[in-house]
Amino acid sequence: MNLRKIEHLGIAVKDLETSKKLFAALLGAACYKEEEVASEHVKTAFFHTGESKVELLQATSPDSAIAKFIDKKGEGMHHVAFDVADIYSEIDRLKAAGFVFINETPKAGADNKLIVFLHPKSTNGLLVELCQERK
Ligand code: ZN
Repeated sequence: MNLRKIEHLGIAVKDLETSKKLFAALLGAACYKEEEVASEHVKTAFFHTGESKVELLQATSPDSAIAKFIDKKGEGMHHVAFDVADIYSEIDRLKAAGFVFINETPKAGADNKLIVFLHPKSTNGLLVELCQERK
C-alpha cells in the first residue's frame, strides 16, 4: 500500500471564521491549527478526526485556486490528501502508471508537508493530493 491513509479532506469555504464554528460543532472538536499559505493564496484551519484531518481552505485572493473552485462549483469537497512515505518515489510510480500531475515538483504545503496534486482529469474528476511529512 503506497497511499497509506487519508491524511485529510480539503474543503473549500467562503468564510473561514464561520466555517470553523460550523465544523467545530459538526466534528465535536476544536480547530487545532490555523495557517496561511501565502504561495497558494489560502488560509487554512485544521481539525482532527481520528487518524485523519479536515482542512478548511479559504481564498485570500481572487487568483487562488480555491476562489476559482468556489466560483465554479460553490463551497464543498475540494480534494482528498493521501499520506505517503516518499513523495518522490510515488510521483515516479504514478507517472509511470500514466497519471498526470498539476505540479511534478513537491512544494511546501500547510501543516509541515511536502505536497503535489494529481490532475483531476486522470483521477475520475477527483483532485488528489499526496503529502509527506517534512523532516
Ligand atoms: Zn490539502
